[in-house]
Amino acid sequence: MLKIEKAPLPSRDPTQRRSESNPYPSTYVHFMIQLQKDALTLANLVANYPRLVVLTGAGISHESGIPTYRDKQGTWLHANPIQEQAFMSDDITQQRYWARSWFGWPIMRDARPNPAHFVLAELEKRGAIDLIITQNVDRLHQRAGGHNVVDLHGRIDQVRCLDCNVLHCRDSIQRLLQTQNPWLDAVPSGHLSRPDGDMEVPEHISRALSLPKCHTCGGDLMPNVVFFGGSVPASTVTTCLDALDKADALIAVGSSLMVFSGYRFCRRASQLGKPVVIINPGVTRADDLAQVKLQSPAGPLLTQTLKHFDQG
Ligand SMILES: [Zn+2]
Repeated sequence: MLKIEKAPLPSRDPTQRRSESNPYPSTYVHFMIQLQKDALTLANLVANYPRLVVLTGAGISHESGIPTYRDKQGTWLHANPIQEQAFMSDDITQQRYWARSWFGWPIMRDARPNPAHFVLAELEKRGAIDLIITQNVDRLHQRAGGHNVVDLHGRIDQVRCLDCNVLHCRDSIQRLLQTQNPWLDAVPSGHLSRPDGDMEVPEHISRALSLPKCHTCGGDLMPNVVFFGGSVPASTVTTCLDALDKADALIAVGSSLMVFSGYRFCRRASQLGKPVVIINPGVTRADDLAQVKLQSPAGPLLTQTLKHFDQG
């Protein structure tokens, strides 16, 4: 393994931050120079803080073709998402969800992990990462070989019965939707893709949808995810906080951290006096808590970082 020079963390100095509107130098050469600098900084962090907790958000799956929620300024890019209370209380919202999900699910199902997922899985395998907490529901960390992964907001490949609590495979529900609504095949695709297997679908299509029901008891079905307005189970939060208590530092990758469920871990790490490192091209809610902010794209940055450990 390459001996990486022990270097103190850069001091937090807002005047040293690059412009948010133009975070990267314009030429490829300058981009690569910055990438190498960021990779060395990150490699030093990994070497000097041997127990890491990593928090990931939608940005890490963007290179896998899954849309993100926000732009680089942290502005919400989509119409209002489905809220948990609305889903629970009316069939129209459920029709809207399942119609949108029918079109959007294949994108999630067919997405493949990208280099950022693979490098994090490798660092976990080498003992550098204790826990990966992901706000994503796409299971790409696990498909890249990650084992110690908490799906903070659940997983989109499962569907839960709201009555008997049985879990169904999402693909089986896709087939059920297809059988009950064969006319969906004739609806042209090309709707605007949204995060988490969601897709813009005209209202008249969703209102015509026959809702899928539980194979076991006929109850209402819900994806096994935490909708907006819903809560992360307390036991899940406790697992993450316990890991953070034992960790040396927290690295947040590809998240604007606008949602409290992820932001709380940055706040906790900061309260505990542990370094918070942010890898994100745009602004985040936790920028003021971060000792280090790296704006190179996660896939190339993590790949270059790993090379520092492999070239020795
Ligand atoms: Zn059921």
